[in-house]
Amino acid sequence: MNSIDRLIKIFSEFPGIGPKQARRFVYFLITRNDAYIEEFKNEITELKSDIESCVDCKRYFSQSIQKGKNIIGKKLCSICTDDSRDNTLLMIVSRDIDLDNIEKSHLFNGKYFVLGGLVPILDKEPEKRIRLKDMLSLVSRMLEKGLKEIILGLDANAEGEYTAEIVRNALSSLSEKYKIKISELGRGLSTGTELEYSDPETIKNALKNRG
Ligand SMILES: [Zn+2]
Repeated sequence: MNSIDRLIKIFSEFPGIGPKQARRFVYFLITRNDAYIEEFKNEITELKSDIESCVDCKRYFSQSIQKGKNIIGKKLCSICTDDSRDNTLLMIVSRDIDLDNIEKSHLFNGKYFVLGGLVPILDKEPEKRIRLKDMLSLVSRMLEKGLKEIILGLDANAEGEYTAEIVRNALSSLSEKYKIKISELGRGLSTGTELEYSDPETIKNALKNRG
């Protein structure tokens, strides 16, 4: 395999990118000058050294932006350290990209937790697919801050519904004991809707009609 094919193989592994697009990326890079390639290399290296997973919500965030704000030894993102956010509301999403999209809409002022994926239907080991333990640990910590409602912000498709069922089961004893309401954004979304691609109007309606 030559260097062109090796790079095509790498780009083909990106979400949503097929071999044809991957090939176009590689030929695009070949035509750039050395300074461009150098910057591209540096940005990728920087990404790995700068990005941390937040201790509370598990989203990835840039440490350089959060510099000085973190409690020593505890790496928290800008949302988890923001005192103006509502601690009575917690939204559980599957991926960082869904969180980013909801944040962009400026319609939700609670806290988040990122599961790290969805559970495929009939999967027998959901705890290996999503961060159930970390989620329960955050919910327990948020109970002390007055948590009242957990919103399941998952895609309105089969995997999203199956994942919601697993998350509900995992939360059932805590939610019963502490009278925490569990609602679902999916109930305010039309079937097949993915949060990643939802516009602010859709998110607004989903939040309003959550049940
Ligand atoms: Zn966080």
